[in-house]
Amino acid sequence: MSLTEVTLAIEIGGTHTSFGLVDVKGNSFVESRIPTKPNESPESLFERLFNKFNKIYKEYSYKYKLQGIGIGAPGANYYNGTIDYSSNLNWCYVNIVEIVKKYYDLPTVITNDANAAALGEMKFGAAKGMKNFIQLTLDKGFGSGIVVDGNIVYGKDGFAGEIGHTIVEKNGRSCGCGRCGCLETYVSTSGLIRTFYELISQLNEVSVLKEFPPEEVTARLIYDAAKNGDKLANTTFEITGKILGEALANAVAYLDPEVIILSEGLAMAGDLLLTPTKINMEKNLLNIYKGKVEVLLSGLTKGNAAILGASALIWHEIQKMNK
Ligand SMILES: [Zn+2]
Repeated sequence: MSLTEVTLAIEIGGTHTSFGLVDVKGNSFVESRIPTKPNESPESLFERLFNKFNKIYKEYSYKYKLQGIGIGAPGANYYNGTIDYSSNLNWCYVNIVEIVKKYYDLPTVITNDANAAALGEMKFGAAKGMKNFIQLTLDKGFGSGIVVDGNIVYGKDGFAGEIGHTIVEKNGRSCGCGRCGCLETYVSTSGLIRTFYELISQLNEVSVLKEFPPEEVTARLIYDAAKNGDKLANTTFEITGKILGEALANAVAYLDPEVIILSEGLAMAGDLLLTPTKINMEKNLLNIYKGKVEVLLSGLTKGNAAILGASALIWHEIQKMNK
């Protein structure tokens, strides 16, 4: 029996580190995870990870042949194989590829989670076959991966594509990056909640959510309220979509993409966010782009987008090497 070629895909998250074996078509065979412990060294995290993975791989080695390792992590630098900064993990400039090579001497690549997500969409999701698109992860933060001519845009130092930290409001909301008015502070799950509370203080509108203590109000609750006809919750989504749409019109002027893909967090709101986003993007587009750029939801819907993204990263690299 011939062996199926697979990659080991790893996603280092704030609470869990997940991994899986994924073939070139995006079929995931074995998925598992370990907790990411706060203040643990990266060496120790990978020791635990490979202890678990090796046992699984040994069991399946008659079936699968490992071709390479792809890793998605916040703050990762594709060029250096490092994690340059990570507020979640308390790591600063760690060479991850070097650590991994101690276990498997195979092609190994790391990139930040947003870039991995974009490659996942290109190889297995909504951007299949496309060469120019933007992928946005609208979770607690605002991640963005940009693909131009079939390749992720990394920039000079590997940090290109921080659309979430473009300033959309002069002297606007304070951002975790230390500046004010970043897109992320408006278009993210936390940004949505901030907008909702701004509206409560500005408008004398009733809302079912006024009964909740503020610390309990989540993006999901605002979504549920909006779906049930809560006017304030609906206005919150309209404003969020307007700000996103305007920002996307600018992004289109820089990049001329075929599509813009929204995933996770706020994207789960579907049309509540998509409709005002599309209307406001279209309204603000330069004439030459009007009616040409689609805004779509992620095509990776099985809950393992991060694993598929990390796998797409290394498959992309292996295919480049074989060209
Ligand atoms: Zn910022």
